[in-house]
Amino acid sequence: MKIKCGETQTLKTHDLSIELNSCGTNEYTKVSFPVKYGIFSRLETGDYIFEFNLNHEIRHAKSKKRSWLHPSEWLKRTMGNDWVYYSTGGYSGVFEAIGEYYLPNLTYPTNSLLGGKPFKENEIDIIVRTWHQIISQLSVTDMPDQFARWVQSIRQQTPEVLQKKAQKLFDISGGRVTVIPPDARHVDYNIIPLTISDGCLYKCQFCKVKNKKKFSVRSEQDIDGQITQLTQLLNKDLINFNALFLGEHDALNTPCELILKTVQNAYDAFKFHTSIMKKSYLFMFGSVDSFLAADPFLFKTLNRLPFQTFINIGLESYDQATLDLIGKPLTKKQVGHAFEKVQAINDTFPNIEITCNFIMDESLPDSHYKALMSLIRESVNQTRPKGCIYLSPLKFGKPSRQVLYEFYKLKSLSRFPTFLYVIQRL
Ligand code: SF4
Repeated sequence: MKIKCGETQTLKTHDLSIELNSCGTNEYTKVSFPVKYGIFSRLETGDYIFEFNLNHEIRHAKSKKRSWLHPSEWLKRTMGNDWVYYSTGGYSGVFEAIGEYYLPNLTYPTNSLLGGKPFKENEIDIIVRTWHQIISQLSVTDMPDQFARWVQSIRQQTPEVLQKKAQKLFDISGGRVTVIPPDARHVDYNIIPLTISDGCLYKCQFCKVKNKKKFSVRSEQDIDGQITQLTQLLNKDLINFNALFLGEHDALNTPCELILKTVQNAYDAFKFHTSIMKKSYLFMFGSVDSFLAADPFLFKTLNRLPFQTFINIGLESYDQATLDLIGKPLTKKQVGHAFEKVQAINDTFPNIEITCNFIMDESLPDSHYKALMSLIRESVNQTRPKGCIYLSPLKFGKPSRQVLYEFYKLKSLSRFPTFLYVIQRL
C-alpha cells in the first residue's frame, strides 16, 4: 500500500518519541539548515535521533549530546551502505566551494580539499558502530501495536542485512558505482543507478575511478532486468526517489534510441510521476567523443521529457601538454569543439545542462590554467547562469591549501558557476 503524506502517527513516552511516516520537504532545495526529504520515520531517544526510510532501513542519525560536533550536522547512510557525515564547515566557505551548504565527509579516500576527520570523533564513531545496539535495547512493552511492530521491523534491518542489501544493489548492475556525477549534488546524491553501458573510451592514465572494462553497451533485456530488480529492491521507499543515474562512465556513448527508451521505461517503472519528490532528474556522464558525435535528436528529445537532465563531460584540460601529461588521448582542438557545443546546447535547451570537468593540481603546467581561463573567462563576455564547471583535484587523500587557494582564484575569474568536484561512490 502506498504511504502518503498526512498519515503521520506519533508516540511520546517519558524516554522516547516515535513519529511514523513523517513528511519532509518534497523538493530538493539549497538552504543553510538541515532539511529532510520525502517520507520517513523518526525515533528520538534522550541522546539520539535516528531516521528510517519506508523499508525500515536507517538513513540518518545524529547525537543530541554536547559532544556532537555541531547541532546542524548529521550522518547519512547511503544506498551503498556508506556512512557520510554532513558538516557545515562554516557555511559560506562550503557553499562557495561546492555549491551546497553541507559538505559530505566520506569514510574512504577521495579528492576533497575541505573537511576534517569526523569519523575519528568519538560520538560519530559510537553511532556508526552501535546504532543497532541502541535501538535493540529499547523496550517495546506497553507500546501501541503499530509502534511496537515498527520497532521490531527496524531492528530486523541489522548492519549485516543492510550490507547484504547494498551488495544486492551492486550485483544488479554487476558492480558498484565508483563515481557519481557531480551534478547529483542537486538531489543530495539520492539516485537510482541503472547501467546501460560499461567502461569508457579512453582509460586515461590519471584517472582513479576507471575500470578495465572495454566500452560495451548492455542489451535491452539486461536493462529491463535491472529495472525490475531495482523496483523490487527499493520497494516501499521507491516513492522517495525522483532521480535516475545512467551508468557507467560514458552512458552518452550508448546509441541514442537505447538511451531514450531506457529513460522512458525507467520513468514509468519507477513511477517518478507519482514520486513524493517534485520534478524528475536524469544524470549521466559523457566523453568528448560521445558528446561531439551525439545526435541533435537526442538533445531535442531529452529536452521534451519530464526530466531535468544533467550530462557531465570530462574535458580535463584545454592544454595539449597537460592532456599528454595526464594520458588523456584527446587533442586541444577536440576539447575546444566540445566546449563550444556545450555552450550551444546549454543556450538552446532549458531542461538540459551540460557540465564540464577540469583537473587541478600543483604539478600541472601554467599553460593548463592559462588555457582554462581562455575557456571559462575569455570565451564569453558575460557571466552564465548554467553550464557548471567542476574542478577536480587530481590527488586523493591529500587536501592542499595551495590547490584550494588556486580554486578560489579560478572561481573568482570564471564566468560560469564553478565548484569543486568531491568524488563520491554509491
Ligand atoms: S576520466 Fe573518464 S574516460 Fe578517462 S579513464 Fe576515467 S572514466 Fe575513463
